Amino acid sequence: MNKSMVITLCFFLLIAGLTLGYQLRQRPYEIESFGMGTIISQTIFGSHSATVGAQVIQQIKYLENMMTINAPGGDINCLNGQAGRRSVSLHSESYAVIRSALRFSRMSGGAFDITVGPLVRLWGIGTGKAKIPSDEAIKKVLPLIDYKDVCLDTRQYRASLKKSGQMIDLGGIAKGYAGDVAIKTYKRNGIHSACVNIGGNVVTLGNRPDGGPWRIGIQDPRADNGKIVGVVKVSGQAVVTSGDYQRYFIVNGKRYHHIFNPRTGYPANSGLISVTIIAHSSAEADALATAVFVLGYDNGMHLIKRYGVNAILITADMKIYVTPGIRGSFHLEDTGEKYQYVKKS
Ligand code: AMP
Ligand code: MG
Repeated sequence: MNKSMVITLCFFLLIAGLTLGYQLRQRPYEIESFGMGTIISQTIFGSHSATVGAQVIQQIKYLENMMTINAPGGDINCLNGQAGRRSVSLHSESYAVIRSALRFSRMSGGAFDITVGPLVRLWGIGTGKAKIPSDEAIKKVLPLIDYKDVCLDTRQYRASLKKSGQMIDLGGIAKGYAGDVAIKTYKRNGIHSACVNIGGNVVTLGNRPDGGPWRIGIQDPRADNGKIVGVVKVSGQAVVTSGDYQRYFIVNGKRYHHIFNPRTGYPANSGLISVTIIAHSSAEADALATAVFVLGYDNGMHLIKRYGVNAILITADMKIYVTPGIRGSFHLEDTGEKYQYVKKS
């Protein structure tokens, strides 16, 4: 090696060392806020992180007002208010969410159904006024639960609900959609490394600045909040969980949770207690997690394979199933004898 090659090599090593040192030293900008009825935590690396974080908070607020049942003047509130009467015009975001939700409804044979609104209201789970409705009351609202009654006018961004009393509830997909929007905003602002957690809907952008993946804990569905069954390592992917431990009440030892089987009108009792989907889009992961939770292990696995996503499924008989694509990046915590880790394709 001649002298000039040695100098060039030293120069590159110095630059590489400085860059690595800078990345390792980078402190994340971390901010917590409240939106979509839950806590939103952002971890952002890079310049202007605070401004971008604030922008994401504003965007989520905007989406919330548009998509919640409760906001007067919001798209979904207006659409529900006009059920059985006329169509209403939608912003492009709520139109996109409804359109995508209907696709998941068709693909899941109706297990995922955003017209569950009347059931959500009847049961009141998570409102502090939750109660087991009578069979008659459930039978009465069941004819209102049918995604095929949502009509979208593709040319004019308008939607309508066929029957009076029908109600759209985007609780099973809106947080996931908001996560995708947050990632787009980070990217648009030149951020390469970030993670946003919207009430358990986690979405990551790139790697951590040290080049390693993000480590996302999977909640133990039968332990206190914050206790995990395992950790999954991801880069640039969404990790979204639906579980019967998120919002529920217990009567005579029986758990009544917030994910409904649209066919029966009761909380889904499919044998699954937690479903985590790992996918590139968090809206997709969100809808699929809810759908698989309702479908149960066999039909759920079928859907998971069809979409080519990965999953961690926990069953009521305390077994943990992990799809082959993420077995190398999933680490099981020591939970004693509580769970059985089943390796099966
Ligand atoms: P997630 O936590 O994403 O599984 O969503 C659950 C929320 O979605 C509930 O709190 C309801 O607002 C709504 N939901 C309940 N059951 C369903 C269902 N079968 N399909 C679509 N959304 C549902
Ligand atoms: Mg969901």
